[in-house]
Amino acid sequence: MEIFRLVNYPKTMYPCRNCNKVYSYHSSLARHLKHECGVDPKFHCPLCSYRTKHRSSLNTHLNNRHIKPADRDFTKPSRTSNDGE
Ligand SMILES: [Zn+2]
Ligand SMILES: [Zn+2]
Repeated sequence: MEIFRLVNYPKTMYPCRNCNKVYSYHSSLARHLKHECGVDPKFHCPLCSYRTKHRSSLNTHLNNRHIKPADRDFTKPSRTSNDGE
């Protein structure tokens, strides 16, 4: 069937209308538009004015800026959720 030749087509690129980013997959562009582009930073540092769109960036910020390695208690189990138990 001719339809299978589609895989040999040059890669289609999906540029974002709002910024200069270009994605190889429509799903990647959709994710970008939904979670990154034009989206206000959802995660803000409780200790300073830092804001980010990514939870991992906030964690990195917190670890680098506000938590010194010496302050961490390595004797405790490494649970990050549920303090209540
Ligand atoms: Zn964009
Ligand atoms: Zn901060």
